[in-house]
Amino acid sequence: MAENLTRGLATLAVHGSSQQDVYGSPYTPIYNTTTFAFPSTADLLDVVEGRAAGPLYTRYGLNPSIFALEETLAGLEGAELAWAFCSGMAAETALFLTHGRDGIVCVGDAYGGTLELLGTQLPLLGIKTHLILGHELERLDQLLAAGVKLVFFETPTNPALDIFDIRAIAARAHAHGARVAVDNTFASPVNQRPLELGADLVVHSATKFLGGHSDLTAGVLMGSKELLMPVWNWRKNLGSTISPETASLLSRSLRTLVVRVRQQNAAAQAVAEAMARHPGIARVFYPGLPEFSGHALAKAQMHGFGGMVTIEVKGDGDVAARVADRLGLFALAPSLGGAESLVTQPCTTTHHGLSAEERARRGISDAMLRLSIGLEDPADLIADLEQALR
Ligand SMILES: *Cc1c(COP(=O)(O)O)cnc(C)c1O
Repeated sequence: MAENLTRGLATLAVHGSSQQDVYGSPYTPIYNTTTFAFPSTADLLDVVEGRAAGPLYTRYGLNPSIFALEETLAGLEGAELAWAFCSGMAAETALFLTHGRDGIVCVGDAYGGTLELLGTQLPLLGIKTHLILGHELERLDQLLAAGVKLVFFETPTNPALDIFDIRAIAARAHAHGARVAVDNTFASPVNQRPLELGADLVVHSATKFLGGHSDLTAGVLMGSKELLMPVWNWRKNLGSTISPETASLLSRSLRTLVVRVRQQNAAAQAVAEAMARHPGIARVFYPGLPEFSGHALAKAQMHGFGGMVTIEVKGDGDVAARVADRLGLFALAPSLGGAESLVTQPCTTTHHGLSAEERARRGISDAMLRLSIGLEDPADLIADLEQALR
C-alpha cells in the first residue's frame, strides 16, 4: 500500500488492487461464490481468527471480487480501509449505528433518504439526531459541548451545491473529541478527498459517479482501520454487503472514473456558463462560477467543481416543470453521475417529502432544476437547454 501513495489517481483507479488472479486475468473476475474451501482446519482458523487475510464467506465481505474493489476505493480516497455495501443508504446506516449512538448532528441539506433516516427512523431507536442548516452553524459548538460525537454533512450539497469548509468543521468537532463523516457522493474522490482535509470518515453512494453508468446500486464507507473495524460486524450482521457481481461491475467503472469525472467537470462548467448568460434563467448554482457564493471555498478545497449544475428558471414551479418536460437529451429522472444527462425538479422528487415552508427554509425553490451532466457533447446539452427554455 505504501508505494500506492506515490501514484496518481488515474493510475490508482486502474491498478489499485493487489489481488492476483491464478490464471493471469488483468483484473479480478467475478467470484460468484458464497463460500470458500480450505485445505485444513488450521488454515480455516487462521482466517476466522484474523491471523490471515483471505476469502471465507461472501456476506462477510471476504470474497476476492470485494477485496479488489475495496482496496481500489481506499486508494482513491487515501483511506486505510474501505467497506463496500449494497447501497449508499446501507453504508450510511452502518456508519450511524456504529459511530452515531452518542448523537449525530447533520449540517446543511442532505439527500432525502439521509434526512428521513436521521430525522425519523434513528430516533425510533433512541438515537438523538440534530439537523442544522448552514446558517445555523453556531449551534454546532453547543451540540458538541453537549456531547454529540458524530458530525455528518455533504459538500457540495443537494441541490443548492452549498460548500462547507471541511477543515474548519473538522477542527471544531475534534476540539470536542467528536468525529466527522462527509458524504462525498457529489464530488467523487477525483474532485475532493475529505480525509486529506481532516475528515475521519467518507461515505459514498457508489450508485452515482463511482458507478457512473446508472446500472448499479452500491455504497462505500472509508476511513482509518480504527474507525472501520467496528463497522465490519454491523455490515456482516445487517447483511448489507455488496454482491460480488456488483463489486466487479463497480471495479470496472472505477477504471474510467478519472476520465469520466474530468469530462463531466468541463461539460458542467460550459453548461453553467451558458445558463448564467441566458435571459430565461434567474440563477445558476455551480461552484465553478466566480460569482457563486461557495466559489472561493470550493477552489480551496476541491480539485474540480463537479458534474452537478442547478438552475433556477424565471417563473414558478410550473414553468420549471414545462422546461424539464421539453428537454430531449436530459432524461427526467432522479439520480446522478451517469453517462446520460438527467434533470430533476427537487420539489417534485428529492425534496417532495418536505413541506413548502421547510423547502423554503432550505433555500429550495419550486423553480429549481437540478442537472446531472453526463458524457454527451456539451454543445448538444446547451442546445437542448436553449430549445427547452425558448
Ligand atoms: C443517492 C444518494 C444517497 C443514497 O444512495 P443509494 O445508493 O441510493 O442508497 C446518499 N447520499 C447522496 C448524496 C446521494 O446522492
